[in-house]
Amino acid sequence: MSLRAVKGMKDILPDEISRWHRLENAFRTRAERYGFREARFPIVEPTALFVRSIGETTDIVEKEMYTFTDRGEKSLTLRPEGTASSVRAYVQHNVQAKEPVTKWYYLGPMYRRERPAKGRYRQFYQAGIEVFGDPGPYVDAEVIDMVVGFISDLGIDEVEVLINSIGGPDTRARYRDALLEYLGPFRAELCPDCQRRMDANPLRVLDCKVPRCAKIASGAPSMLEHLTDDDREHFDGLQQTLTRLGTPYRVDGSLVRGLDYYTRTLFEVLGKGEGLGAQNALLGGGRYDQMVQSFGGPETPAIGFAMGLERLLMAMPESVPRSHVDVFVVAAQPDVRAEAALLGRELRSAGLRVESDLRGGSLKSQLRRADKLNARIAMILGESEIENGVVQLKDLQQKTQTEVPRNEAAAHAKPLLA
Ligand code: AMP
Repeated sequence: MSLRAVKGMKDILPDEISRWHRLENAFRTRAERYGFREARFPIVEPTALFVRSIGETTDIVEKEMYTFTDRGEKSLTLRPEGTASSVRAYVQHNVQAKEPVTKWYYLGPMYRRERPAKGRYRQFYQAGIEVFGDPGPYVDAEVIDMVVGFISDLGIDEVEVLINSIGGPDTRARYRDALLEYLGPFRAELCPDCQRRMDANPLRVLDCKVPRCAKIASGAPSMLEHLTDDDREHFDGLQQTLTRLGTPYRVDGSLVRGLDYYTRTLFEVLGKGEGLGAQNALLGGGRYDQMVQSFGGPETPAIGFAMGLERLLMAMPESVPRSHVDVFVVAAQPDVRAEAALLGRELRSAGLRVESDLRGGSLKSQLRRADKLNARIAMILGESEIENGVVQLKDLQQKTQTEVPRNEAAAHAKPLLA
């Protein structure tokens, strides 16, 4: 039996990686421009971390986590998302004692045992940010504006920003009553999970993917009509700031998102271009003002989002891939290979990306390899070149060749590569 990658988990091979690098670099650049710093967390965490934060009645915790017992001792889980770990780390390292507002970003693989589909995997990558210590709503708008700008940097134009507020505990309590009153007559029609959720956490019914439940949920009363005055003011502030920033958005009172820890602001960015198919949620986020405290930290408001890198890559326009080789060093005779290796090192020290083929093949076969790799330049070194301290610089695009002093070879190459 041949061994293959686990279902829903993909290899990313070098031909694809330049797009990943572009995406990741663009994210880092933008996040750092807004004062975020990178944090890295373990991929494996105590299971209780996710059960307590994401919520016992959510799809992730009920059905999708990769959980195992560590040698008969502790229950551990492959992280399904990044916010729970961020909060754990924030509390564990007592970060609030060091700074009033903390801004972190992270990048890495996440694991959910979902049904694989286009744009939905069991190992997928997320990039996300978290802001601790600012109650908003101005920072909420800034975070949304930042990510919309980021997506536009990637050349993804057709997006829609959805926002909602699910309020704080008081709003939730009011809304829960209204929702239960609405759901009551439909109880028998709901899926068994939702019948259970009605007792444990009725809000989760709004997020059920079973079509019958989704149809019933679509008629539920809007959360926005139940906001307390404080929550309403917060939501108004968010909208006013977004308007001032010129960030287009649409209020969607049915947006709930599949994690329990949210409070007040929720948002999602949908890709509208072709190519994404049904999995068109590029990113999602929201405020989680109670989570730090529930993990034993001080009262600390917080907001964050996470985006799926595979989905962003699907939505990103194709671009001409850049070759990974600037200069291909050719040894004209097998005997000069040691010197060719030295020339390669000289050029690399000057910052060029250099490849060669030191197996001792013919000049022609080495040049063919240079072409195949899409190198812009070949530098040919033979016995007479070594003697005279020169190299033959061949511009493989313009099909021209010039002899240049060896110690100036890199300086001659750079303008061609710019
Ligand atoms: P969530 O953590 O569920 O709020 O998801 C945030 C973002 O992660 C989504 O908008 C997607 O872009 C991405 N995402 C979530 N689940 C998956 C998955 N199974 N496969 C690929 N991307 C995903």
